[in-house]
Amino acid sequence: MKYIGAHVSAAGGVENAPKNAYELGATAFALFTKNQRQWVAKPLTSKSIDLFKERCEKYGYKPEQILPHDSYLINLGHPEQEALDKSRVAFLDEMERCMQLGLDRLNFHPGSHLRKMDISECLARIAESINIALDKTEGVIAVIENTAGQGSNLGWQFEELAEIIEQVDDKSRVGVCLDTCHTFAAGYDLRTPEACEKTFADFENTVGFKYLQGMHLNDSKGELGSRKDRHHSLGEGEIGWEVFRYIMKDKRFDGIPMVLETIDESIWKDEINALKMLAA
Ligand SMILES: [Zn+2]
Ligand SMILES: [Zn+2]
Repeated sequence: MKYIGAHVSAAGGVENAPKNAYELGATAFALFTKNQRQWVAKPLTSKSIDLFKERCEKYGYKPEQILPHDSYLINLGHPEQEALDKSRVAFLDEMERCMQLGLDRLNFHPGSHLRKMDISECLARIAESINIALDKTEGVIAVIENTAGQGSNLGWQFEELAEIIEQVDDKSRVGVCLDTCHTFAAGYDLRTPEACEKTFADFENTVGFKYLQGMHLNDSKGELGSRKDRHHSLGEGEIGWEVFRYIMKDKRFDGIPMVLETIDESIWKDEINALKMLAA
């Protein structure tokens, strides 16, 4: 079973996300459980939590169909202690919000070295941040998103994802989310079935599909290896439709939330529909 949706708005409260997803005909969705551009958020109210759960039930969304995304401000590999601590506190809060909502995974960007520390030191720091958060929570998987490798963002090479995972103590609670735009921008070709075969074999050999807990389905404005994080609508960018056809037919992508973060929300419904047809 393929779960297909989009990163929907939670404006007015998290309880609005399942309804927004349902209206798109989605069988999966992503959301922010707090404002993604602010450090501190009010705790979720019990009313919001209850309504969220009630509506997920009503519209048929199970935890495996939902991929919450953390705040953009968090950097779990921050080279400076004070900023690192701030990120760790915020990340723990994000994990706790997921627990409150009955969700089983949290998608986050690994972190950036800001050119102030070396790569493996930063990767170790990210793993340490994950270990700290996992120690203090239960039932939520920390899902590392691969990046485009823009600036000093880490986690664009599959080897870097593997290096983080290797240092996480509880392997049952760490996972990966692959963003097709980021993968392509990082230099992994996805334009033909043969290229997809090679890229995903590389992923299997380096990280392993057993860690795959979600997908971001985006085309890319940037070229192969451009290291630019610029999404495009499906088929409109440098990647084209082939990879989405490939993913929809491949069983290794079953049972995880796969969500659009494409640039034109007004066609999400059509994009979801087209993906569903390919999966059928
Ligand atoms: Zn992301
Ligand atoms: Zn992106």
